[in-house]
Amino acid sequence: MHSAEHILNQTMVRMFNCKRSFSNHIEKKKSKCDYHFERELTEKEILTIQDKVNNVIQQDMSVVEEFLSRDEGEKNYNLSNLPEGVGKSIRIIKIGDYDACPCSGMHVSHTKAIGKFKIISTNFEDGVLRIRFKLLDE
Ligand SMILES: [Zn+2]
Repeated sequence: MHSAEHILNQTMVRMFNCKRSFSNHIEKKKSKCDYHFERELTEKEILTIQDKVNNVIQQDMSVVEEFLSRDEGEKNYNLSNLPEGVGKSIRIIKIGDYDACPCSGMHVSHTKAIGKFKIISTNFEDGVLRIRFKLLDE
């Protein structure tokens, strides 16, 4: 689930030039990510996002972790979503050459293990776009 969220975030950034989700709720069955956004997505955009995420998953990219010092981490990444006091080293999760982002959660080692990514619904309210998704076993 966590790995899927990273890919979804990077896909949103690339498609819409928006920021990664500012708030999310990741669970085994269903997850949701919230983005600061300007409008609701169209049906076509939702399908495009889904295709792009599944395309990355199908390429079976390796998911690796890398440790940086806090200084190096601050230079290259936005660390504001990390909990306080994560220590001196920052863990960066890299998904192939597609995405890299600091995270302390659990991840798969290869993207194919994520399964199939499906957007359940989206809604837009007060500048916030919410995307709900689930993962299907293949
Ligand atoms: Zn993560």
